[in-house]
Amino acid sequence: MAGGSRRTRAARRRKRRMDSVEHDLADAQWDALVQAWGGCAYCGAGPDHLQRDCVLPISRGGRYTLTNVVPACRSCNASKCNQEVTTWLRRKGLDERAFLASHIRVLASLDTYRGGSGAGTPADPLPLDPAG
Ligand SMILES: [Zn+2]
Repeated sequence: MAGGSRRTRAARRRKRRMDSVEHDLADAQWDALVQAWGGCAYCGAGPDHLQRDCVLPISRGGRYTLTNVVPACRSCNASKCNQEVTTWLRRKGLDERAFLASHIRVLASLDTYRGGSGAGTPADPLPLDPAG
């Protein structure tokens, strides 16, 4: 009787995959995100009791990464669940453009937390025109 060893192995492999996904977002990155947003990314509530919300839900291929996680209050997190973020914002009557703009701004300000070597250069420098 070789009871269940295969199932155990599959469960362990699944667990390891989930762990590695979770750990893509370092604690320092999370702290920086919370600080940058200053509260719930969607409604501004907080900054206490914020939860990690995936902008693109895990069920839609999202991951726990710096670029995909925002702090959300319990109410927003529960309400959004696994809906597509812009659809949900519109339904809630929240300003999706303001959210997307803030998201870009926050990520730009957190560039140093990405953990890379920093070798990359910005592809698109701001189009500053000295001639005004
Ligand atoms: Zn909220």
